[in-house]
Formats: sequence, C-alpha cells, structure tokens
Amino acid sequence: MEDTSKFIQCECHGHGLMMDHFIGEDGRPSELYIIVYGSQSYFEKPDLWYRIKRAWGVLRTGKVPGGDAVLSETNAANLVAYINDFLIKAEPGD
Ligand SMILES: [Zn+2]
Repeated sequence: MEDTSKFIQCECHGHGLMMDHFIGEDGRPSELYIIVYGSQSYFEKPDLWYRIKRAWGVLRTGKVPGGDAVLSETNAANLVAYINDFLIKAEPGD
C-alpha cells in the first residue's frame, strides 16, 4: 500500500505536522487530516505541580491544550503543495 502521509517538522524540532487522507469508496482522496505532534522529550519533564495544574485544567474545562508548529517558508510551501495535491486528486474527474 502506498504511503500517502507527509511529515513536516516544526522549526523548533519539538513539534511536527503529520498529514494524510482517507480514500473514499470511489478511490479518490476523501478527507484530509492533519495531526500536530509535540515531543515532550524536547523539553525538560515538567515538575509534579505543573502536571497537576495541567490535569486540573483539562478536568475543569474539558479542553486539552494543543500544540503549535512554526513552519519555514519551504515547509509552508510543502504544506500548501500537499493540500493542493489532495484537492486535485479529490476533485471528481470525468
Ligand atoms: Zn515547535
């Protein structure tokens, strides 16, 4: 099976974007998904109090803090190229 995923690393080298898509019943890409990865190993392990505060924040608000990714011009162009390729392949043909 062809690997259709694409990984783009954040400029801090601690995060990354993984892009892939599902294939519809007609054989064309149907849904694009992007996962933002955060590497905790890049940072020092937070102390226990910080981890408790984070856990309490998630329990209280129901919202899990997300990560962010900073892309260079080249990687931003790679992101756009991947999405454009997805859109072209997902477009119904004749
Ligand atoms: Zn980053």
